[in-house]
Amino acid sequence: MKAPAFAYVKPASLDEVFALLDQYGDEAKILAGGQSLIAALNLRLAAPQVLIDITGLRELAGISVSGGKVRIGALTRHRELETSSEVRRHLPLIAQALPHVAHLAIRNRGTFGGSIAYADPAAELPACSLALDAQFVLMSASGARHVPARDFFKGLYETELRAGELLVSAEFPVLQHGYRSAFRELARRHGDYAIVGLAAHAKVDGAALADVQLAFFGVGATPVLARNAAGPLEAKGLPALNEAQQALEADLAPFDDINATAELRMHLARVLLGRVTAELLAGA
Ligand SMILES: Cc1cc2nc3c(=O)[nH]c(=O)nc-3n(C[C@H](O)[C@H](O)[C@H](O)COP(=O)(O)OP(=O)(O)OC[C@H]3O[C@@H](n4cnc5c(N)ncnc54)[C@H](O)[C@@H]3O)c2cc1C
Repeated sequence: MKAPAFAYVKPASLDEVFALLDQYGDEAKILAGGQSLIAALNLRLAAPQVLIDITGLRELAGISVSGGKVRIGALTRHRELETSSEVRRHLPLIAQALPHVAHLAIRNRGTFGGSIAYADPAAELPACSLALDAQFVLMSASGARHVPARDFFKGLYETELRAGELLVSAEFPVLQHGYRSAFRELARRHGDYAIVGLAAHAKVDGAALADVQLAFFGVGATPVLARNAAGPLEAKGLPALNEAQQALEADLAPFDDINATAELRMHLARVLLGRVTAELLAGA
């Protein structure tokens, strides 16, 4: 199928973007990497009057580190994140996750901001943002606001972005001493969206785990922090793995679809929790 007709604008400044968003409201769509949006247009799942192409706004791209934070601009492409030495050093969870995001050709075009704003429940970067307690910077004509990733994902493809707002960047705390990350997902083929995935981050001291952040994805309408499962691991470490796996029942509400039943998803989530816990503790 072909996309319905739309107008196309490529603004030269953020002010121009905000003026267009105010003018067109719901009838406008931001175009970043186009890897999800163009498919949605071609399938006629969206029919905006105008596409606002932000790819000319280079101030929205890039990775920088200062004041204990890593800032990732919304237009930073997946491939740039994947190959960044600063991301490997300060955000190893994101470095581990990136090779699982789609395929190389898509990672060459797709952007960090596009993935966050699109909010696919099986996407890797929203879950990493939850596990690492990122803040998103949302900007409109009336100014900027910071929204924690933990408050941003509202429902299936639904976010805290309001009419007139653009996601301009994300801020992540740099990796603290003693913290480790582990990332695993199960997909039909490498590069497909995950059936179930887990992005984890924790403080590791010998066999002890503290501040355990377990962000599951592919198991609900949004990525989910499994707080009930984290408790036993923080209290007793690896010997409490079985208890933590059982506690996932209280954290996750998986669903059936053509890829897996809810029951299989819960089983896979438990398997991933076991693998990720072992990986966090390995060599510590
Ligand atoms: C075959 C295939 C497989 C894929 N597999 C995966 C996968 O395994 N994991 C995964 O995470 N992704 C996957 N993707 C999606 C890919 O990562 C996309 O790049 C990403 O979802 C969207 O990024 P984009 O820059 O292409 O955004 P676009 O397609 O340009 O935009 C997506 C949506 O976000 C909005 N938007 C974009 N940027 C902003 C912004 N700065 N502020 C506000 N709104 C904005 C757009 O208006 C649109 O609604 C896959 C895509 C394809 C085609």
